[in-house]
Amino acid sequence: MTAVVVIVGRPNVGKSTLFNRLTNSDRALVDDQPGVTRDRIAGEIRHGQQRCLLVDTGGLGHAAAEDPALAERVTAHSLQAVHEADLVLWLVDGRTGPTVEEQELAGQLRPLGERLRLVVNKTEGTDSELACAEFYQLGVGEPLAVSAQRGSGIPRLLDTLFSTL
Ligand code: GDP
Ligand code: MG
Repeated sequence: MTAVVVIVGRPNVGKSTLFNRLTNSDRALVDDQPGVTRDRIAGEIRHGQQRCLLVDTGGLGHAAAEDPALAERVTAHSLQAVHEADLVLWLVDGRTGPTVEEQELAGQLRPLGERLRLVVNKTEGTDSELACAEFYQLGVGEPLAVSAQRGSGIPRLLDTLFSTL
């Protein structure tokens, strides 16, 4: 069975950019407007001899948008994807620090234990240790710093991912 890895996180943290980076594709739509990825997109990650299936989601951990029904549907889709996953990558924005919604989401995702990995994005040009420091308070383990856009931290993320699976 191919292992399934799911990316979750609030809109605009860079989930689709990370999806494209890890799958070497441009299939996931990257946009400045929050909430662009509404349906799940899946692609393959290859790393040496290993492979797994990566799923991009519409997001988790945002306050109700202008269209609450849509926001709810997106959240339901993402939660379904989380339950089906062998590993969940929770992506956050290293430039903003944890939001109130993310602090609440931490409580929902914490039971995943080893199946959850916190990934701090947009850390290019910043002190990545400092960027990660404030995310320890989410209480879901050690954050991993990356820049989905520039590619920094991606080899280490891939190593961690495949050693967990
Ligand atoms: P999603 O809504 O979580 O899927 O986020 P997107 O992948 O659509 O990206 C949202 C915005 O963040 C876009 O403008 C991206 O170019 C930008 N972005 C994504 N990754 C990075 C990164 O590593 N660094 C910076 N500075 N911006 C990024
Ligand atoms: Mg997206």
